Amino acid sequence: MRAEARLVGTGAAGGVAIGPAVVIDTVEVEIPVTEDPVASFNDAMAAVQADLIRLQEHARNAGRAEAAEVLGAQALMAEDPMLADSVAAGVASGATLEEAVTNTSAEIAAMFAAIDDPYIAARATDVVEVTDRVRRHLAGVESADLGTIEEPSILVATAITAAETAMLDPSVVLGFITEAGGPTSHVAIIARSLGVAAVVGTPGVVELVSSGDSVALDGTSGEVAIRPNDETTAVFTALRDAFAAAQQAAARFRGVRVTLGSREVAVPANVGSREDVELAIAEGADGIGLLRTEFLFLDRSTPPSEQEQFEFYSFAAQGFRDTVVIRTFDIGGDKPASYLDIDPEENPFLGVRGARLYSQESDLFNTQVRAVLRAATHGDVALMLPMISHVSEIREARAQIAEVAAQLVAEGVDHEVPLIGVMVEVPAVALVADAIASEVDFFSIGTNDLTQYTMAADRTNGVLDGFQDPMHPAVLALCKLTADAAHRNQITVSVCGLAAADPVGAVVLAAMGIDKLSVSGRSVNPTKSVIDSLDPATAERLVQPVLAAASADEVREIVRAANSES
Ligand code: PEP
Ligand code: MG
Repeated sequence: MRAEARLVGTGAAGGVAIGPAVVIDTVEVEIPVTEDPVASFNDAMAAVQADLIRLQEHARNAGRAEAAEVLGAQALMAEDPMLADSVAAGVASGATLEEAVTNTSAEIAAMFAAIDDPYIAARATDVVEVTDRVRRHLAGVESADLGTIEEPSILVATAITAAETAMLDPSVVLGFITEAGGPTSHVAIIARSLGVAAVVGTPGVVELVSSGDSVALDGTSGEVAIRPNDETTAVFTALRDAFAAAQQAAARFRGVRVTLGSREVAVPANVGSREDVELAIAEGADGIGLLRTEFLFLDRSTPPSEQEQFEFYSFAAQGFRDTVVIRTFDIGGDKPASYLDIDPEENPFLGVRGARLYSQESDLFNTQVRAVLRAATHGDVALMLPMISHVSEIREARAQIAEVAAQLVAEGVDHEVPLIGVMVEVPAVALVADAIASEVDFFSIGTNDLTQYTMAADRTNGVLDGFQDPMHPAVLALCKLTADAAHRNQITVSVCGLAAADPVGAVVLAAMGIDKLSVSGRSVNPTKSVIDSLDPATAERLVQPVLAAASADEVREIVRAANSES
C-alpha cells in the first residue's frame, strides 16, 4: 500500500467523511491511432450507448426522472447515423480519428445550437457529452458517473458542476473533494443542503488518489488524508463523532425562537428543492429566507412550466406559518441554463445574470411571477429579486409584476401580490441603501456575492480562497450600511449568504442588528444555539472594533476573545 498523504483545501460543507474514493478525472484525453478508425469509432458508439441505457435505468430506478430523461436522449443520439457518417467522412478525407471526432462534435453541436427551438438547441450539450464519452472510451479512460455510484464513497474530482452536485445521492456519496471551487460556490452550497461533507480548492488531489483508496476529509477545516494510517483514521473518526454530537446537541432548539436581548433574531432556511423544504420543516426553521428557484431551471432542456413552478412554490408556502421568500431565478454565473440565449461570457459573474436577464427573458420571468403570485394564496409568500445594481431594475421588475397581476385579475385567477424585496449582493446597492430601501419591502444581504464583488475574487476560483472570507471588515461595513438604512426606512434586513451560518458571522451580523439569519436546513439549530448563547452586552461591544479591524483574521480574533471573556 502507498503511504499516507495529507493535503489541505478549503472546507466547504461541514461534517467528516471516511471511505473509499471514486476518482473522476476530467482531464482532456486524446484518441489513440488505430488501424481501422471507423470500426473503432462504431464499436465505441455501441459501447457508449449500452452504458447510457444502463445509466438511464439506474437513474429511473433511483427516482431521478430528469436525469433519466437526459440519459435517454443521449442514448438515442449515440445511435444516430449523423454522427457516425460525419466521422467516417472526415476519416475518408484524410483526418485522424481525433480530428474527425472533434470536428463532428463541434459542427453538429453548432448546428443544433443555431436552431430557434429551445428543446432542439439543448441537444448541442448532448452531442458534446456523447462524443466526450466516445472519446474517453476510445482512450481507455473510464467515465465515472456521479449519479450512479452504488457503494458509499467519497468523490474526488477536478471539478463538479452545480447541476451534477444536485444529482448526487447523499446516501451513497459520503463526501467529496474537488481541485476547483471556492467555499461559497454553488457546489459548496448544494453539498451543505445535502448534508455531504465537502472540501474544495484542493489542487493536486486527483493525481494523488486512485479509485478504491481510502480517504478522509474534514469539511470544516479542509483537511484531507489520503490512505490514512490507523492513527489518522482514529483522529478523523473522533472528529466525525464530535460533529454528529454537536448536531444532536443543537436539536433542542428545534422550533424554539431565539432572541438577542429583547430583539428576536429569526433563523429561516435556504432551500433549493423539495427535499430541502422537507428538511427545513423537520428542523423547525422560522420559514424560508431564500428559495433558490433557479435549481428548478437547470440541468434540463426546457424551462419548468407555470404549473410545475406553482406546485413547488405552494408546497413550500404551505409548510410554514412564517414568511417564505421566493427568489426569482438567478441564472448565469456558475448556474447556466442551456435553453437561454445567453452568449457564453468570459467572466460570467460580472455579466448577464439574475435580474439582468428579466427584460430580455420576459416570458420566462412573467411565467415565474404568475406562479409566485398564485402560490402566494397558499401562505405568507414574499418575492425577492437577485443581482440588483440599479433602482431602475427594481422599477422595471415591479412594472412587470404589476402587469402579470393585472393579467391574472383579467383572467379571474386566484392570486396575491406579495411583498417585494431585493438581494444586496452588489456593493453599489449597499452604498446607496437608503435610496433603494424606499423602493422595496425588505433587504436580504447575499454575502456570498457581496464578498466576491467587494474583494474582486471569483467565488468559484479555488486558488483565491484567502480573498473569500465574508468576515473581511470591508464586507461587514457594507452589511452595516445596509442594516442601518433598512431600519431607518422601517424595513427588515436578512442575511442569506453562508456568513449567516458561520458561528463568527452569526454573532457579528446579529450584533449589527440583522433581523434574520437564513441558513441551510442543517445549520438552522446550530445557528439558533449560537444566538441563544450570545450575551447582548458583548454583542454591542463587538460592533465598533470589528468594523475598525484590518482583516478577516482580526475580526475572528476579536469575536473569539469577546466570547471567551463573557
Ligand atoms: C449570496 O450571494 O450570498 C446568495 C445567498 O445568493 P447565491 O449564493 O445563490 O448567489
Ligand atoms: Mg448571490
